[in-house]
Amino acid sequence: MSDFRYPLVSIDDAGLEIAAKIPVSVLHPEVSIRPPMREVLLDGRLDKVNGDVFFRGRISGTYVRPCDRCLTETCERLDIQVTWIFSNTCPEQDTGEEPDDRLYPIEGDDSVDLVQPIWDEIALGEPRRMLCSPDCRGLCPRCGENLNLVNCNCDQKTNGGHSDLETGLKQLAALYPELKNRMKPEE
Ligand SMILES: [Zn+2]
Ligand SMILES: [Zn+2]
Repeated sequence: MSDFRYPLVSIDDAGLEIAAKIPVSVLHPEVSIRPPMREVLLDGRLDKVNGDVFFRGRISGTYVRPCDRCLTETCERLDIQVTWIFSNTCPEQDTGEEPDDRLYPIEGDDSVDLVQPIWDEIALGEPRRMLCSPDCRGLCPRCGENLNLVNCNCDQKTNGGHSDLETGLKQLAALYPELKNRMKPEE
């Protein structure tokens, strides 16, 4: 039973305004599961329309993921308009008429639960690719250095200029980019 379940009786003719700050732990029992996200904001209104319930509004939040190239923590905003329709009628028939609207069931106790639709939007909106900057240079495939921060010498020394120990330490550092971020001035 979620905190974002609204009984139909609580929605009157004027609709029910919703402005909620939703911790990700409420949306999904396993926070570690993808996509990782910071606090989600939901803003909009529930309306009863001919026995169905419409939610129209806006969902926003921030995805937090390592950069796909250099592993530095990277953020990207989600901010989209959504329309969800909650209905007792079977959603299987005549799909495709309004592909932008998503259909959900009204719960057995005559309520609508916003958690599943919110989670769906987050999962569908997740960026395929996240980079710390469009021209991120990534990690050196040989020594593991973050090439945004340093220039390694791997190009010149094709047979390897690093000792095994040095290479191992650099790969370790690449796995823990926050150690390096601490030395980098914040914006
Ligand atoms: Zn990067
Ligand atoms: Zn290198």
